Amino acid sequence: MTKPIIEVKDLAKNFGKNQVLKDITEQVTPGQVIVVIGPSGSGKSTFLRCLNLLETPTSGEVDFAGENLTTLDTKRVNELREQMGMVFQSFNLFPNMTVLENIKLAPMKVKHMDDATATKRAHELLKQVNLDDHADAFPASLSGGQAQRVAIARSLAMDPKVMLFDEPTSALDPEMVGEVLSVMQQLAEQGMTMVVVTHEMGFAKSVADRVWFMADGFIQENSTPDDFFSNPQTERAQDFLSKILM
Ligand code: ADP
Ligand code: MG
Repeated sequence: MTKPIIEVKDLAKNFGKNQVLKDITEQVTPGQVIVVIGPSGSGKSTFLRCLNLLETPTSGEVDFAGENLTTLDTKRVNELREQMGMVFQSFNLFPNMTVLENIKLAPMKVKHMDDATATKRAHELLKQVNLDDHADAFPASLSGGQAQRVAIARSLAMDPKVMLFDEPTSALDPEMVGEVLSVMQQLAEQGMTMVVVTHEMGFAKSVADRVWFMADGFIQENSTPDDFFSNPQTERAQDFLSKILM
């Protein structure tokens, strides 16, 4: 069996008295695309943020590439975190830098990549997200869909082993959702390991290897998309699916 790249064991997270995650044990193997779906407030963002220790778990363990993040010092956590790209609903591009500079920044600063290599790599990544003609543009001139594709390219510039996406298309106008999802689909086809929180059921159906349905702080179902959408097992999932547009 393939070794997991991410392994979560008995993960729990409380905010004060609020038990947001209650004992999650799951794993992600290299190349897998996991889509996490579930109602608002069910703990999806908290779960994703626990995977790279942006949130500190209250108890349990998160292993990344065989190392238990919850026992490592900050320096090692930061090194491993560089291998997990994260894309949020908001793009958080640096407004005072061009698209190209946004992408070059982390590889040069953190990895000490030389300018010529970083520039070359940034152009390759911009081609991959169909934006090389916008290399010298400033973020304010981009549409939401373009900005999110730059944010994806910027994450990829660190050569992550895993990409985490938290509702990457939720803030976009509907006509821009497709261009972002298609970049993500290509990334999946190239073998990137991905954990994606999304409400895009079409993406879940066509790209996910597994759907994790989260509600009330648990992963209630872990199924293939076919099984999940045609034959949800829990009442919670049946109820959720009956309320969303497909
Ligand atoms: P989802 O992403 O599924 O909508 P979240 O993980 O954002 O859910 O939130 C789950 C619960 O945790 C919510 O009740 C939310 O209010 C609470 N929560 C999330 N982040 C914090 C925080 N930093 N401090 C306190 N409560 C939080
Ligand atoms: Mg969320």
